[in-house]
Amino acid sequence: MARYRDAVCRICRREGDKLFLKGDRCYTDKCAIARRSYAPGQHGQGRKKMSEYGTQLREKQKAKRYYGLLENQFYHYFELASKMTGKTGENLLKVLESRLDNVVYRAGFAMSRPEARQLVTHGHFTVNGKAVNIPSYLVKPGDVVAIVEKSMSSDKIKGVLEANASRPALNWLSVDKNKAQATVVNLPERSEIDLQVEEQLIVELYSK
Ligand code: SF4
Repeated sequence: MARYRDAVCRICRREGDKLFLKGDRCYTDKCAIARRSYAPGQHGQGRKKMSEYGTQLREKQKAKRYYGLLENQFYHYFELASKMTGKTGENLLKVLESRLDNVVYRAGFAMSRPEARQLVTHGHFTVNGKAVNIPSYLVKPGDVVAIVEKSMSSDKIKGVLEANASRPALNWLSVDKNKAQATVVNLPERSEIDLQVEEQLIVELYSK
């Protein structure tokens, strides 16, 4: 499947926001957004005011890249969200947050979403006791995501758990650090999702 393979910090610079794609580095002053907050490329510092369409497109691109998705995957989630009751934009973010790779990242079992995706694909997690290696697996309230017992001895996993030991708890995800497992209490409300995106603009874009 086609994936973005260029320097990931360019994605953040293009979107003008930190998308936290590189783990530890994102929290240091080496972050490219902290050093050069303008868009990459020859015209990066001289971009003109955006059209309505351009603004909507950028919001969609930002959300899509934050969760590391391709266009067709992202649109699939939009369709799913539009069939749910309530506000489509908020539903969209809720569905995206319920992806297994996102939950692994939110629980502090990976340093970034790209790393979470890789760890899930490599079979380091179970959901309700069963091995799941599909990053797009959607969790539900009550589901328990845990690190596979034998993976607990991996240096990489040990390093991640240590680095994230003091990460603040989330209301919607109950993490038991001793058991290396996280229970989905409920899916997050919009106010609990720290994504600087105007989801209504995404709805407007796809409704054209
Ligand atoms: Fe984005 Fe992280 Fe790179 Fe900063 S260090 S630009 S947040 S990927």
